[in-house]
Amino acid sequence: MILLRCNHEPILRQKLCLADPPPPPAAQLSQAQDCFIKNNILTTMFLSRHIARCAAPHVVRSRQLFSTSAGRKSTATVASGLTAILGAAAGLSYLGSEESSVALADEEQRLTSLSKKEFKDFPVLSNKMLSKDTNLITFKLPSEDHTLGLTVASCLSMSAEIDGQNVSRPYTPISRRNQKGVAEFVIKSYPPRTDGKPGGMGNHLRSLKPGDTVKMKGPWKKFSYTANEFEEVGMIAGGTGITPMFQILQEILYNEDDNTRVKLLYANKSIDDILIKERLDQLEMDFPGRFKVTYTVDKAPWWWQMKGETGFVTKGMVGRCIFKPDGKKKRKIFVCGPQPMMNAVSGKKAGRKQGKLGGCLKQAGFTEDDVYKF
Ligand SMILES: Cc1cc2nc3c(=O)[nH]c(=O)nc-3n(C[C@H](O)[C@H](O)[C@H](O)COP(=O)(O)OP(=O)(O)OC[C@H]3O[C@@H](n4cnc5c(N)ncnc54)[C@H](O)[C@@H]3O)c2cc1C
Repeated sequence: MILLRCNHEPILRQKLCLADPPPPPAAQLSQAQDCFIKNNILTTMFLSRHIARCAAPHVVRSRQLFSTSAGRKSTATVASGLTAILGAAAGLSYLGSEESSVALADEEQRLTSLSKKEFKDFPVLSNKMLSKDTNLITFKLPSEDHTLGLTVASCLSMSAEIDGQNVSRPYTPISRRNQKGVAEFVIKSYPPRTDGKPGGMGNHLRSLKPGDTVKMKGPWKKFSYTANEFEEVGMIAGGTGITPMFQILQEILYNEDDNTRVKLLYANKSIDDILIKERLDQLEMDFPGRFKVTYTVDKAPWWWQMKGETGFVTKGMVGRCIFKPDGKKKRKIFVCGPQPMMNAVSGKKAGRKQGKLGGCLKQAGFTEDDVYKF
């Protein structure tokens, strides 16, 4: 009876894959307490606030049964009153959380900064040099409560008119997924192109001053990370290839319920080229036993031997700094970096597809399932 009065009930049933209830016989509809017996607590939990109103008279009636005529009524009838009270309370509690989670989702949607349909303008808050060719650019979101609104790991497109041509490039924010008010990016600038094709986005972004705006659109999902999907994650990054790794790293480490351990091997030309080193070192200190970073540089001074690796990423380095293949554990190795490094470490991607596994990861004995190429 109550189910028929509830506006939310068909949706809730659909959500929970419950079959439609048979219509109750008319004779029973007048028997309020019988109705409560027939609707068990679980079903009652799915009722809307209307149910509270529906249940109220029965709750009162139940109280009367206890106080005045309990002796004359059967135990079953008294039990039905109790069921009503418990069920209505449980229903209210459940629906409260259901309604609030819907409201929360609406609010999140409203406070999402990006759109997949149109480019939106984002003002630069600060633009700092990280290395000779790489900057840390912080953008302001529409309000202090706004987030970029992406899932890990995702990127977005930035667009600008450069030398009369429209240029659009993908970039990966390094700020946390739920960071409010601002979004941070590590952006590398390259020497000008010689083929006359549109380009120069990195240089354009590097030249921006606080208050200048950049058009952004997205987000574009690259890899869908789920907590505890893997026991151990290995990461091999080169240069700005650190950006998707840092997204996943923060997602793992700042989730108290995620037990995944992460080992990162980060390759750069020189010590001065290592990007966001302080942040990586801080995470290693904050999460001992869960996160370990090793840096490798092409050329290093003598004292570097104590601190990290030297030279290109090799099979031996992967075994030392990340892990060796082990068919038993749930593991993944993420790889992201410049094309020559990708070729040498994991083999090329085939367009947007993963392509065959190659490079030193194949030599080490890893399989295609073990590796994800960004
Ligand atoms: C998913 C994804 C995420 C990314 N995230 C980031 C990020 O977070 N940070 C970041 O810095 N980058 C990121 N990138 C790379 C970024 O999108 C741009 O590719 C990069 O910034 C270069 O763009 P540009 O316009 O500055 O360079 P361009 O002007 O296009 O040129 C770049 C360089 O390409 C070379 N080049 C290529 N073709 C030719 C040719 N035919 N002739 C001459 N030279 C050529 C030149 O060396 C030139 O200097 C990401 C890329 C992808 C795919």
